[in-house]
Amino acid sequence: MKKFEYMEKHGYEQLVFFHDKTTGLKGITCIHDTSLGPALGGTRLWNYDTEDEATLDVLRLARGMTYKAAAAGLNLGGGKTVLIGDPEKVKSEAYFRGLGRYVQTLNGRYITAEDVNTSTKDMDFVNMETDYVVGLKHKSGNPSPFTALGAFHGIRASLKEVYGDDTIEGKTFAVQGAGQTGDFLIGYLLEAKAKKIYFTEINEKHIAKIKEKYPEVEFVEPDDIYGLDVDVYAPCALGATMNDKTIPQLKCKIVAGTANNVLDDEEKHGNMLKERGILYSPDFVINAGGLINVYHELQGYNRQNSENDIAKIYDRLMDIYKIAKESDTHTQNAAKLFAKDRIKTISTVRANFVKR
Ligand code: NAD
Repeated sequence: MKKFEYMEKHGYEQLVFFHDKTTGLKGITCIHDTSLGPALGGTRLWNYDTEDEATLDVLRLARGMTYKAAAAGLNLGGGKTVLIGDPEKVKSEAYFRGLGRYVQTLNGRYITAEDVNTSTKDMDFVNMETDYVVGLKHKSGNPSPFTALGAFHGIRASLKEVYGDDTIEGKTFAVQGAGQTGDFLIGYLLEAKAKKIYFTEINEKHIAKIKEKYPEVEFVEPDDIYGLDVDVYAPCALGATMNDKTIPQLKCKIVAGTANNVLDDEEKHGNMLKERGILYSPDFVINAGGLINVYHELQGYNRQNSENDIAKIYDRLMDIYKIAKESDTHTQNAAKLFAKDRIKTISTVRANFVKR
């Protein structure tokens, strides 16, 4: 892989490889852009087949974090760490303390958190060796209810854009995935008096949990979720669920949920949804509630302040929908334009020296 060529093309700042022989720790931290503030992004543990695969993953994920933080109105840049290893075998106190020491060497340019296959418990070990870790159990805690809350506000903004009215009452929803975020989202929608909610799941335990918790919510088989005659389809499971096969089935007016990388091919499927007149709520904007919540740990955590900031996802989406209309582009692209513009303008504001 031509790393410097890739870094130059996409404006990366730093790529760090680290290794600890005793624990088998093998990792890569990427800092994409720190124009707005320190790079924040979780640590993913994955059994990558090749080093190039891990490198490309960390590069892509870090860049995604730059746009996510920028669009969320945070003073944060984008970064990420990937650890190469089998999650069933490598984890130990020493392994994560080793990681913490490498995070500390970056001296605050990068802040880590939990991600796929790493937990708040693992981050407690990381925290023994570094100040630069968030998402700790005794601070902001589980991000999922906050991610779902952000999606709830995002759905309201999307209803406002499509129907001129953001009330949930009287509207119908199809939720794909009732794990951590889907469960909370269903709860918020019911509380706001949604007329009808369908959900789908592949995990039997989660199906039983939702049926018991919310008996009024109707289960449908996974393949039937796309073609339901509802106002909103809320993807809260996997990525790439908006693709050549699924988009033609949609009867909804809005696609808005918590899942990452919903569009299989951003350009192609962003445009397909636009052409079909279906409003797509850009994933990295609508699902930023969890990130906004951990960001508040850096400021001294206060739940109310965090929830107030999460509610601003509503206004941010309205701005993005306006850009999409004015630039005649799909909403995912408009969200990137919005994020890049904020990075550019805030960098300019900060160009002069001011003593604080
Ligand atoms: P989760 O694993 O708790 O829940 C996902 C659920 O989807 C699981 O219950 C799983 O069984 C179900 N599922 C998987 N494939 C399915 C299919 N084909 N049909 C129906 N159900 C299916 O995950 P989560 O934390 O709720 O996250 C959901 C999505 O939101 C992911 O894409 C994640 O990356 C994204 N996200 C989560 C957070 C967060 O705070 N948890 C933040 C930002 C983005």
